[in-house]
Amino acid sequence: MPATEDYWPLVLENIRGSLKDSAYKAWFSRVEFVKTSNHGRKIVLSVPNSFSKKYIESKYKQGLLDSINKYYPQVIHVDFSVDQAEEEPVYTQQTLTPQEISKPQRQEKTQKSPKDTFKSFDVSQDVGASYLPKKNINNLNPKYTFEKFVVTDNNEFAANVAKAVIDQPGQIYNPVFLHSGVGLGKTHLIQAIGHKMLENNPSYNIKYIPMETFVSQFQIAVRKGEMQGFKNYYRTIDLLLIDDVQFISGKESTQNEFFHTFNSLIQANKQIILTSDRHPSELNGVADRLISRFNSGVTVDISKPDLESRVAILNDKIERMQLPLSDTQVQSIAIKMDTNVRELEGVLNKVCAKIKFTPGKNFSDEDLDGILTSAVKPNPAFSLAKNPAAATERIMHAVCRYFGLDKADVLGVSRQRDISTARQVIMWFYKYDLDLSYPAIGRLFGNRDHTTVMHAANKISKLYKTDEKMKEKLDIIRTMLVKA
Ligand code: ADP
Ligand code: MG
Repeated sequence: MPATEDYWPLVLENIRGSLKDSAYKAWFSRVEFVKTSNHGRKIVLSVPNSFSKKYIESKYKQGLLDSINKYYPQVIHVDFSVDQAEEEPVYTQQTLTPQEISKPQRQEKTQKSPKDTFKSFDVSQDVGASYLPKKNINNLNPKYTFEKFVVTDNNEFAANVAKAVIDQPGQIYNPVFLHSGVGLGKTHLIQAIGHKMLENNPSYNIKYIPMETFVSQFQIAVRKGEMQGFKNYYRTIDLLLIDDVQFISGKESTQNEFFHTFNSLIQANKQIILTSDRHPSELNGVADRLISRFNSGVTVDISKPDLESRVAILNDKIERMQLPLSDTQVQSIAIKMDTNVRELEGVLNKVCAKIKFTPGKNFSDEDLDGILTSAVKPNPAFSLAKNPAAATERIMHAVCRYFGLDKADVLGVSRQRDISTARQVIMWFYKYDLDLSYPAIGRLFGNRDHTTVMHAANKISKLYKTDEKMKEKLDIIRTMLVKA
């Protein structure tokens, strides 16, 4: 009788026959047989990393089991063991000190170029430029890993591109432009790529930088006359992750500098990944040459998760948080909260808090209803109470920044579409978030008539309910207000 592992190559052949070559290579070429146990009911396979495990489980579970059953008919359960050598997180654990993290990078640098030309321009060390994170700081948040990223229909393409980039950085897709509405996993996914690349190449110089940060760093560098250092800092990066690139809108000189940074990294085959709240072609106030660069690699979007995906995401998180929720409760969260993943997390956090603060009491359906009702209520982003003038300014500033306009534009009389939309949006915020009266708002806009304001506020209210894109925009601006 042949040994159990002898059948494994046949299973692989079977899988290979039923999949595209690329998919087989990506997901099954490194899957190995470990053992069978439980009297042949369970088969244990080894996979290179937990991302593969998750992906295979979410995507190929049934197909894999079918193929296995052709040669191992008793198997009812497939278990994966993750290859520890590859999986072990390197330099990303919070417990490592910055000094520890920096060691390999320094060694690598000196090996590569004994003169270390980079160092003489390294303003973050020489001039004590606190506005540029030190060489060894990559800004990656340890919680955003692939392990915790649930792959569902709506983000599958993005996850595949991420995987391809990790396997061949700078080779196939460069840049990657990832866009979606808020709370759908852009930041999580690009940071997960960062973590994985760092695991694979501990000496990589990886930087995660929100575009807003890049903009302010650039402004400081200009003011301090440290442009050479700034340029060199950015041009020696191996993997550049720029989050929320839309914030470069209207910033011409930053765009100029970013254009050059971008070109020089791409020419050196360094990987760039950008995220945005919209497709490159919809970026207002961004130079055409930059937009065409953004479009020159691959553009991927993450759409909203459907019900099934929301359930999958919830279940994954519930398991990690060890929350005692029933399937029906999970369903009702997924049905009510249909906008984004951040919202789903918000509900789970509330559930968690409720359980923690009422120990010994079972978490009931009524408890959940309470949480869901308050979660779907519109939530004023901030309070006017203390300082109305500051609040109006803040809204003005955020909306202008979002649309890439100047304050003078919206206060002026132009009826250009973007300008008048921005103006109406500001009025809407003033009305509904600050509760100002129509005449008061009119006065803030150079004594416009209160009926104009009323019309504007009503129009945006209607759009908020009927136009997905507009709702998304307004939600983003709200997030900016909260953060500001
Ligand atoms: P975005 O950058 O698109 O606004 P984030 O990456 O900040 O969204 O995601 C919002 C929250 O939802 C984060 O806490 C993130 O961990 C979580 N999240 C988003 N997508 C997923 C996913 N597919 N699996 C698990 N968690 C996710
Ligand atoms: Mg984000």
